Amino acid sequence: MQVPLLDLKAQYQTIKEECLRVTREIYESQSFILGPHVEALEKEISAYCSTRYAVGVSSGSDALMLSLMAGEIESGDRVIVPPYTFFATAGAVSRLGAIPVFADIEPDTYNISPDRIETVIKKMPVAMRRTLKAVIPVHLYGQCADMDPVLNIARENNLMVIEDAAQAIGSEYQKRRAGSMGDFGCFSFFPSKNLGGFGDGGIITTNSQALYDRLKILRVHGSDPKYYHRYIGGNFRLDALQAAIVSVKLKYLDQWTAARQKNAQTYRRLFEEAGLAGIIRLPVEKQTRHIYNQFVIELPDRRDELRRYLSEKGVGTEIYYPVPLHLQECFADLGYQAGDFPVSEHAAGHTLALPVFPELTCEQQSYVVRSIKEFYA
Ligand SMILES: *Cc1c(COP(=O)(O)O)cnc(C)c1O
Repeated sequence: MQVPLLDLKAQYQTIKEECLRVTREIYESQSFILGPHVEALEKEISAYCSTRYAVGVSSGSDALMLSLMAGEIESGDRVIVPPYTFFATAGAVSRLGAIPVFADIEPDTYNISPDRIETVIKKMPVAMRRTLKAVIPVHLYGQCADMDPVLNIARENNLMVIEDAAQAIGSEYQKRRAGSMGDFGCFSFFPSKNLGGFGDGGIITTNSQALYDRLKILRVHGSDPKYYHRYIGGNFRLDALQAAIVSVKLKYLDQWTAARQKNAQTYRRLFEEAGLAGIIRLPVEKQTRHIYNQFVIELPDRRDELRRYLSEKGVGTEIYYPVPLHLQECFADLGYQAGDFPVSEHAAGHTLALPVFPELTCEQQSYVVRSIKEFYA
């Protein structure tokens, strides 16, 4: 049996006519950049995320960088990020000449630990603390970080909060939507995310009129009006085609999320029945709405071997992420060492993402769990 990690073709078949219709509309209009489709999507996403504003941008990575720019993060400033996340979370900070400061994650949710953030801040010399400007909690795998303590620490230390919600559209923390709690919420429409376009794209949410105005100006090279440049911005624009496709898909998002959640429950039952629940750690649900962008299990040992075994059996898996950011070659000059963030390092060595996409069948899930049982037997 073949069980891919993700099967976008199955999903496309269900929305094909609508996608072709909006695509044709845009071809006929020959108007491709920003414009009414992007504005419509911005309204829909801000409503979906319960924020006042949204600004469509070129990718999730650019959403992070543009938010940092709008927050006036500059060269030499410091920004706290978790070491266990997709590269862009810290990459965006470094690209502005600012310095990522890592704080380890919680062992159960893999999200940034508020206690670790506090420790990192306390350990900073006073002069360095003055350069600390922001924190980027990541809502990893579709579950919100523990935001109340993060927001409290940020308030006490006068830090901006940029939510990296690239994996978490629709997830909730105590009934509050991802992207609505910090100064900015950053989302990605990369095709493999739970709400993906037909290419690169992203969006930033905010509740602040002033930040919204800045984001919109920075998105178009800092010009306001056209050809009069107030800031040094960049080209961070979203395509009409991507916006139109994402608008089509947004209508189905809750339905797809429900299917992901159901698949997660099915895995729990199957792992329990297979007697594997004691050996393998299943995702720990701490927040009110986990949207299961990924279903990530933690294994006692032989993770890479299991992954190869499953691949031979036709089961697609992925390792998010094999090397924590503090140990990446490009960040060597930050001066971190192996052992600095043991929880992140452990997660990087022991976790494996299983297929959880909405169209996954019960038979496929049984096959995945049976194959894992065979391996450990
Ligand atoms: C995907 C992702 C990004 C980057 O989004 P792109 O649209 O691929 O640039 C940033 N942060 C996290 C946590 C992600 O998963």
